Amino acid sequence: MAKMWGGEPYYGLDDEFDPHWFLTEEQSALQRELIELCRTVLRPNAIESDRNNTYPRANLEALAKLGLLGIIVPKSLGGRGENHVGTLMVAETIARYGCPSTALIYMMHMVAVAGLVYRARGNAEIESLLSRIDKECLVGTASYTDPETGGHFWYPKTSSSRRVPEGWHVQKTAAWTTSSGYADWYISQTTSPDFAGDYSDLSVFLFHKQEVKGSPGHWNAMGMHGNQSGPVEIDTVIPANRIVGWPGDGAASNDEAVDPLAMLLYAGAYNGVGLACIDVAKRHVTRRAHAQYGRRVADYPTIQDVFGRAIIDAQASRLHAYALARALDDATENGSWDIYIDDPKAMPRAKFASWCFQTKFLSTRFAFEVSDKMLQACGGRGYMRDLELERLVRDSKAGWIMAPSNEVTAQLVGKWGLFGADAIDWWNQKVDEPVLMNELGKLDAAGKQRIIDRLAAELRGKEESLL
Ligand SMILES: Cc1cc2nc3c(=O)[nH]c(=O)nc-3n(C[C@H](O)[C@H](O)[C@H](O)COP(=O)(O)OP(=O)(O)OC[C@H]3O[C@@H](n4cnc5c(N)ncnc54)[C@H](O)[C@@H]3O)c2cc1C
Repeated sequence: MAKMWGGEPYYGLDDEFDPHWFLTEEQSALQRELIELCRTVLRPNAIESDRNNTYPRANLEALAKLGLLGIIVPKSLGGRGENHVGTLMVAETIARYGCPSTALIYMMHMVAVAGLVYRARGNAEIESLLSRIDKECLVGTASYTDPETGGHFWYPKTSSSRRVPEGWHVQKTAAWTTSSGYADWYISQTTSPDFAGDYSDLSVFLFHKQEVKGSPGHWNAMGMHGNQSGPVEIDTVIPANRIVGWPGDGAASNDEAVDPLAMLLYAGAYNGVGLACIDVAKRHVTRRAHAQYGRRVADYPTIQDVFGRAIIDAQASRLHAYALARALDDATENGSWDIYIDDPKAMPRAKFASWCFQTKFLSTRFAFEVSDKMLQACGGRGYMRDLELERLVRDSKAGWIMAPSNEVTAQLVGKWGLFGADAIDWWNQKVDEPVLMNELGKLDAAGKQRIIDRLAAELRGKEESLL
């Protein structure tokens, strides 16, 4: 069936270029419904959000009406119980046909939902929130990045939590948080209440909006104008049941819930942005003609070559993401989050970590590179606002720099490939002895003695503090 757009054949790539064989009948029907919602609601709001820096709350309300805010929430908790393939498709569709900022908000919302569904069972507060998420349009977000540690979001150096009689006293400053000041709830990660210097000892907490100081309306950036990312401050006491999981569960939460969903939905969102660039550029080059030759821009072989390469890059990135989503479904009883009830230590999603990072890199690189190519293919007209490419070019860059940035991701995957997973020193704990000895070897005897004296004083200090 040809893809339709308001009663007409879609102006972009037709559905023979969509990997529809990954989707069930039900998921294909949902996608058609969502494309129509994008045409009528999300896309007009994307243009409005970009022009006026407005938060696209109306788009999120429309998604909630389709039951998409709780897409991965188990059916027994009132959600859609959708699998990874379906969730990926939804993110890609929102970004491609609708609004990239909404896709990014959706992605951070889903990261937060993943953190909750992972440890929902037995926690009445979390179960209640998840069961109302679509009915009440409760948008969440994940506030992870500490200002001091940049994009290393798993390393909250200055945030902390401690046990108090009423529950937990949590202090957190986050440099960036999508939906800052607009979200209805937040999850955040700090070092654990019993923290003793090991930065892998992390805990996750849930906050309602009145407990968080966000910064609505401050987002002033190149693109993604609707996402309204901004600093967040938390300094509050919350009840005991607002810990997600238990003290020290944060690293597992990252590996098993937050990272897999984040990387997969990065892929959905940014493959969608890249495809949107190809779609709007196709619309232009197939309509714009040069009178002197009687040819359209699309008739030039060089332009066909640019589109061919763009489509091939798109499909490589999408197939990577969909194959990964299918693998995650196969490993989790078709996307179940109930597997942790019987076995809280189960880590089937984490086994795909290196694939997850690869898909983030591929999709965000694809979006950025293809946006530039498509702008060039459209010439001066592509530079104008009304074609919508200019907005997509600006929006496309965010994925590359979002955590883990593509520089960090490539180095991480490379190190993993060369030396194995254990070589990755997430929390800067492993001593690189060859480097250390090499540096010490550069010192003369007096220099070495200075270091010895310093270390001896440090050890004496530790001994005295123990007495
Ligand atoms: C639109 C948008 C929305 C966001 N939303 C959220 C959100 O909802 N929640 C949240 O927690 N965060 C969010 N962030 C933050 C984001 O995930 C990153 O943490 C942030 O962009 C990092 O920016 P920085 O300037 O601190 O980069 P830095 O970490 O300071 O990096 C600067 C440069 O150094 C490079 N670099 C850093 N470390 C290394 C390394 N080890 N090796 C090689 N190169 C390195 C980077 O690649 C980059 O080029 C958002 C960011 C954006 C742009």
